[in-house]
Amino acid sequence: MNIRKLNEIKESLLHLFYPRLCEGCNKPLVLGEEVLCISCSLEIPETNYHHIEDNETALRFAGRIPFINATTFAWFNNDSLIQHLVHGLKYRNKKETGIYLGRRFGERLKETDWWKEIDIIVPVPLHREKQAKRGYNQSLLIAQGLSEALHIPADAHILERLRDTESQTHKTRVERLRNMEEAFTINNNRHLKGKHILICDDVLTTGATLEACALALMKIEGIKISVATIGIASS
Ligand SMILES: [Zn+2]
Repeated sequence: MNIRKLNEIKESLLHLFYPRLCEGCNKPLVLGEEVLCISCSLEIPETNYHHIEDNETALRFAGRIPFINATTFAWFNNDSLIQHLVHGLKYRNKKETGIYLGRRFGERLKETDWWKEIDIIVPVPLHREKQAKRGYNQSLLIAQGLSEALHIPADAHILERLRDTESQTHKTRVERLRNMEEAFTINNNRHLKGKHILICDDVLTTGATLEACALALMKIEGIKISVATIGIASS
């Protein structure tokens, strides 16, 4: 009996005692299913934005940052399966969900030609304190899934987050801009000259965080930027 067969048996036995459950409907997953059962996996409302140049994600960044492509995997509606999955990923330690969604998204991006021009996948970093509290960065897990599907390296050390950009509602426009410009800094950027970076994040809302990342990366000479998010919430 070879090692692979043994591992399969070990895995089946493990699942017999500790069945893995579908994150959508809680039914036990069968061999070959991952995170979602087949029927739940078909329920994700994919946008197919990667085939549409002037998609909603691209329109949200138009005039704010220069980008090559901007796309999103699925619509993020209240009480939807994708919202449930992203919440699990962010707040209930469901790390495998991030890799799963990233991988599925990556498989979709392979339907285009432009993904081949991407050199590095960069996840939106969390602030150090927030990451310590959560124990992981959900965007890095998405980046790892994308990286697995596309065979493009992901690098979580290029961008560093100095402050949060989320709660900006009480700030003036000037304060907001300053806050954003100083939110991220870049490390070891010498090898990035002229490269095409795909910044990835979980859910696109106002786009302020991704815009702030792009502002930091734009300090690199000849840099090209694309943006990819798992979900898009209505603005
Ligand atoms: Zn299911």
